[in-house]
Amino acid sequence: MAKGKQATVDDAAALLRRAESVLILCHQKPDGDTLGSGFALRLALCALGKQVRIACPDGFPERYAFLYPEGFAPEKQPEFDPELVVAADVADPKLLGAVGVQWDGRIGLCIDHHPSNTRYAEWLLLDPDAASTTQIMAKVIPQMGVPLTREIALPLYTGLATDTGCFRYSNVTPAALRLGADLIETGIDSFMVNKRMFETKSRGRVELEQLVLGTLEYHYGGQFAIAVIASADAERTGVPEADMDGIPALPRQIEGVEIAATLKQKGPEQFRVSMRGSARFNVSEICGRLGGGGHPRAAGCTLNGTLAAVKSRLVEVVAPDFERLGNG
Ligand code: AMP
Ligand code: MN
Ligand code: MN
Repeated sequence: MAKGKQATVDDAAALLRRAESVLILCHQKPDGDTLGSGFALRLALCALGKQVRIACPDGFPERYAFLYPEGFAPEKQPEFDPELVVAADVADPKLLGAVGVQWDGRIGLCIDHHPSNTRYAEWLLLDPDAASTTQIMAKVIPQMGVPLTREIALPLYTGLATDTGCFRYSNVTPAALRLGADLIETGIDSFMVNKRMFETKSRGRVELEQLVLGTLEYHYGGQFAIAVIASADAERTGVPEADMDGIPALPRQIEGVEIAATLKQKGPEQFRVSMRGSARFNVSEICGRLGGGGHPRAAGCTLNGTLAAVKSRLVEVVAPDFERLGNG
């Protein structure tokens, strides 16, 4: 299978229309965008009478239950050998975990907005200017001949709102705002989505934030901040991973911080790094040097080693970036 052929919206819609059975894949540690894209596409394919299954290596978190169809049970979905496997918002097959290994070389279409996409699928519909993958889905679905109903608008809005930090981040464009308006016009309860995603925290989450903020340390005169989500703290507060969304954005709010790295402990000597940066840095490129990727202002990678070793590796790896700006 030739890989990474560039697909247009028309190509993607034609591939989806042609397939009678489709498997949709969402990335691990699922967020509103991968789930919103997946469930919107699922609805569109069901409307066309296709067989559809959706899978995520980390399952479907309770936090996004409002996106799932009533009575949705992942294990009760139809079993079939899919004609087309589609990945939504998945920059790298590594982010599909075991599911990616299972479907390795068989992913026919990837719809994504990460500039660092590794072009692992046969066809890639990539729009790095889209604020969310759901923004691209909002073009593909009508091209498939399915109108953007209120039902489909809800997951599309969720992805757009979550990937833009509720329309605040630098990826917000006039097109993103116009799409938000169009989706709200269908009659969705956008306030419910915003309230759940941005205005609600469990007590455990508030306690976890306190613990994480207690780990903050600064380098390069306060321009580089490192925070840690230790396994023990996550366990003690009982916060599931899906409810940790937004924690990596906290250290970036601190005045003077240009790059923030939040280290989520995965094992005694393994950390998933969530990096957030200001306009002066490209954290996708920095994470790329460490085997990861993402967006210019929000990216990630996974590092092995003790906490101390991982921290010094990070301090070392951003050194040239601060030196380049004459701040080293
Ligand atoms: P996170 O810090 O996990 O919220 O990730 C920030 C952004 O970077 C998201 O768009 C992720 O999909 C992307 N990302 C995180 N880790 C990786 C990785 N190892 N490779 C490629 N992209 C990643
Ligand atoms: Mn995502
Ligand atoms: Mn996304």
